[in-house]
Amino acid sequence: MKAVIVVHGGAWAIPDEISKASVDGVKAAACEGFSVLKRGGSALDAVEAAVRAMEDNTVFDAGHGAVLNSDGEVELDAIIMDGRTLASGAVSSVKNIANPVSLARAVMEKTDHIMLTGRGANLFAERIGMVTVPTETLVTEYERKEWEKHKKYVSGVMELFNSQWGHDTVGAVAVDCSGNVACATSTGGIRNKMVGRVGDSPIIGSGGYADNLSGAVSCTGHGESILKVTLARLVLSHVEQGKEVADAVDLSLRYMGDRVHGAGGAITVSPSGEWAAKFTTERMAWAAVEHDVLWYGLDPNEKFKEQLSQ
Ligand code: ASP
Repeated sequence: MKAVIVVHGGAWAIPDEISKASVDGVKAAACEGFSVLKRGGSALDAVEAAVRAMEDNTVFDAGHGAVLNSDGEVELDAIIMDGRTLASGAVSSVKNIANPVSLARAVMEKTDHIMLTGRGANLFAERIGMVTVPTETLVTEYERKEWEKHKKYVSGVMELFNSQWGHDTVGAVAVDCSGNVACATSTGGIRNKMVGRVGDSPIIGSGGYADNLSGAVSCTGHGESILKVTLARLVLSHVEQGKEVADAVDLSLRYMGDRVHGAGGAITVSPSGEWAAKFTTERMAWAAVEHDVLWYGLDPNEKFKEQLSQ
């Protein structure tokens, strides 16, 4: 069985000033996740490790570095899903948690529910002894400045999503040596979102989905568009109908563009280790590791390769 991990660091018009840090961040996260798989770890452990690495990296819009809502506050969303059992856990609008993906995993493993939101999610975190941090420590100086600059944009069109609202949501999909798949997605959402707004990222079938019978997907892009077409499930429904994973992602993103004028990106892996990273925004930082080979890219139709030491 071939173990593979693919990660993304968000689909949008990533400015040059943060493009190198974004690519370095996804490469490091993919290597982190792959090292779990290489030690015989599960796909679930691998996606959690990769997403945690990006939540801890302030260049990405997840955990530390999250974007701010219209009140200038952080509200975080995350999902994780296990393709073996279709178990999944999610949190939305949580505040003082540095690694929401791990809280989502705890919802999956320690409750009878699939999603906890806001205060309830924070109370649960407290109950299970999860370390909390003052929410302000999650806010970077860079984001505070960007928020000040763009806060006049309270509503608008897709161009605004690309240039001002979009940010570096993170995600990972993996297949382990036993052929089990998993996905995880984590985000601060889009800058200047309304207080309480929840996008696609923590919603099962939209921001992510994992099923050993077809594959795992993590999405990024304009949340309201992704929700309308349930993008992650749409990708897998094409796979179920016999499409290659790359074609399944292309068809789904094209459909989202044609049907609701939404732009975004998705990464996917099949139980046999076929994978794809595709987007319709200007850029998406992504990286993948298979057979100790690291693939990565940022601009459309770009794919670089590095041999990792064995
Ligand atoms: N999909 C995320 C959201 O709408 C944003 C992103 O992926 O950049 O919350």
